Amino acid sequence: VFNFAAGPATLPETVLRRAQSELYLYEESGMSVMEMSHRGKDFMFILEKAEEHLHTLLEIPLGFSVLFLQGGATTQFAAVPLNLCTPDDPVDYVVTGSWSDKAFKEAQKYCKPSVIWSGKSGKYTTIPDVRSLEQNPKAKYLHICANETIHGVEYKDYPSPENRDGVLVADMSSNFCSKPVDVSRFGVIYAGAQKNVGPSGVTIVIVRDDLIGHAQGITPVMLDYKIHVENGSLYNTPPCYGIYMCGLVFEELLEQGGLKEVEKKNKKKAEILYNAIDGSKGFYKCPVEKDVRSLMNVPFTLEKSELEGEFIKEAEKENMVQLKGHRSVGGMRASIYNAMPLAGIQKLVAFMEDFQARHD
Ligand code: PLP
Repeated sequence: VFNFAAGPATLPETVLRRAQSELYLYEESGMSVMEMSHRGKDFMFILEKAEEHLHTLLEIPLGFSVLFLQGGATTQFAAVPLNLCTPDDPVDYVVTGSWSDKAFKEAQKYCKPSVIWSGKSGKYTTIPDVRSLEQNPKAKYLHICANETIHGVEYKDYPSPENRDGVLVADMSSNFCSKPVDVSRFGVIYAGAQKNVGPSGVTIVIVRDDLIGHAQGITPVMLDYKIHVENGSLYNTPPCYGIYMCGLVFEELLEQGGLKEVEKKNKKKAEILYNAIDGSKGFYKCPVEKDVRSLMNVPFTLEKSELEGEFIKEAEKENMVQLKGHRSVGGMRASIYNAMPLAGIQKLVAFMEDFQARHD
């Protein structure tokens, strides 16, 4: 089956097979990773390796800490304002889709956020020019969602230190590790693992060290970056098995040649799919502006919308599943994360052409 789900999503076959072979007995430990003490030497090794691989993959500079947490990216919608500002601090949000809108709404409980740009009136089909964003000069941080999983818009460039104030914070849940990123431009990067790098249950946070230790007094201990940094992600029981799986995925991405290679493959896959949509003479349509189309989540509609149900059903029969668009936008969405093989895209495009030939 080719699984086009938005997350939890398809994982690399080699990783799943390796996990299967180690499921019952992990190396010389005499037990499964699921049974290990999180403070024992075997799990400590797994955690250290996962962190080390992520550092290598993203070329994380000195002065940043990596955390493996729980609670999903949704928990970070609260953790970010709680750690980075006081209740009276202004902060800026760019709202490019449902996820950045949710992040903004959560921040309203903990500080004074403003929406400095919203794509709502244009149905979230574009991204603002990062060089001309008008920011509040006193804003403690600027929050963006690097890739909107539901609407399929993705930043191709990020606001840089010359043209922004405060700290740049990014929700990278759905394009994490899909391409290289200059971590030094960010104060905080956070991502749920369940799209590109592992199963659900692990949330990765990369935080600049000078931003640690200023959490608001009301911050729950589980949301305080300082506590987690001081305890090396082991303040309480972490999502051990999920971290192990992320470590295997990081290793696999490194074996592929790192994120530059991964990006090349992702660009090629996305290009084939978008070309098929654009070349269909209007039978299929992607509402997103061309220069900000996501390499990860490709939303599209059928001109004859009454055929969408049939399209999804027939695709399922051909073993291409989870192509239904998010319930809030309808249509179709193909999520084509790192682990979606080129063969999956080729099969989908062939199916689309055949479907069009039968219904045009
Ligand atoms: N942000 C983005 C961009 C997402 O795609 C998602 C989930 O799909 C979330 C946040 C919420 O993540 P979680 O379900 O891990 O809380």
